[in-house]
Amino acid sequence: MRASEHRPTQAIIDLGAIQTNLKTIQEHYSEDIITYVAVKANAYGHGAVEVAKAALDVGVEGLFVATVDEGIELRQAGITNVPILVTGLTDPRGIAEVFDYDLTLTVSGIAFFEKAVDQLTTTQQRHLLDKELPIHLALDTGMGRIGLQKPEEILAFIKGLEAYPWVRWEGVFTHFSTASGGPKDYIDTQWERWQDLLKVVPEEVTYRHHANTAMAYLTDDYPTDIARIGIGMYGIDAEDRSPDPYGLVPALSLVSAIIYVKEVDPGRFISYGATYKTQEKEWIATIPLGYADGWFRRYQNFDVLVQGQKCPVVGRINMDQLMVRLPKEFPVGTTVTFIGQNSGQSNHVSDLARVADTIGYEVVCGISDRVPRVHVNVRQ
Ligand SMILES: *Cc1c(COP(=O)(O)O)cnc(C)c1O
Repeated sequence: MRASEHRPTQAIIDLGAIQTNLKTIQEHYSEDIITYVAVKANAYGHGAVEVAKAALDVGVEGLFVATVDEGIELRQAGITNVPILVTGLTDPRGIAEVFDYDLTLTVSGIAFFEKAVDQLTTTQQRHLLDKELPIHLALDTGMGRIGLQKPEEILAFIKGLEAYPWVRWEGVFTHFSTASGGPKDYIDTQWERWQDLLKVVPEEVTYRHHANTAMAYLTDDYPTDIARIGIGMYGIDAEDRSPDPYGLVPALSLVSAIIYVKEVDPGRFISYGATYKTQEKEWIATIPLGYADGWFRRYQNFDVLVQGQKCPVVGRINMDQLMVRLPKEFPVGTTVTFIGQNSGQSNHVSDLARVADTIGYEVVCGISDRVPRVHVNVRQ
């Protein structure tokens, strides 16, 4: 979808805030830990290429994405000479692109390599195997998502790898499921399994890593070679139990403006389903933002900010528009802030997540491609 530039709705992303957050997070963990940043899902809605470049400018060692296509987007934007780890599993039929774009793959077993060889043989591209394919092996210590679960499986993987000399086994990683929410003691259950599995991983495998943002806050107790930083650098809390401990700065604002305003008589209905009825003479403004932009119907009870005042959304949120009740008449063109600061008031992603019974990740990932991203650099 092409971004809609001809209306006042914009996501404004402060790259300086992202850089500051990264530095703040890094200051709190050991200098031995290297940092990869999560720019999957268009950098959590913040703009993958711009965020990747901003993070590289402050010296992060690697990037990671969920899919090969996300990696290709970064390479095509001229981001070279930095590792890009694809943390999701990849269809072996895409192996040629993986080589062409110099991506590091995650595998969950040996089967991938055999299928990749078949694919390159069928398409007469076996010469690509003159290059090396860097890989990280996923280990499942209790997330139940991807990865090998048992030492025996790793030993079989080691044996199987002998047939694939073009594979460079660079890392192993796991993912903790309760670092930010859920039973805390489960962290130790996973940690013990992780230690057990690592015992059979060969010395030559350089990187052993497990830390997303919430675990990166705990690396004094749970050390890692790589911290995989996502949500924290965007200045958003990782769920209930892991509020940001360092005063990180939200990087994204979502703003629009009044495009229509009118005074409505008492007893009139607003929007689909006639769920809202005016009680008195009310000033009702229309804003060009709706659920197709990622402002979902379940955000109904979250007030927006106009001239530093909280204003309720009245009636259902539409696909492209919504209505708010103003305390008095404000002119067309007045800024409306959905996320971010407005005359001393602020709406935080976490507040919205709470009202909508979700997590901040889903809020920012939900902002659709129709909303133009505007990158600024305010905070140094
Ligand atoms: C997305 C992701 C992360 C980053 O998680 P945050 O909670 O945003 O820091 C880390 N590791 C893996 C494997 C991921 O998929």
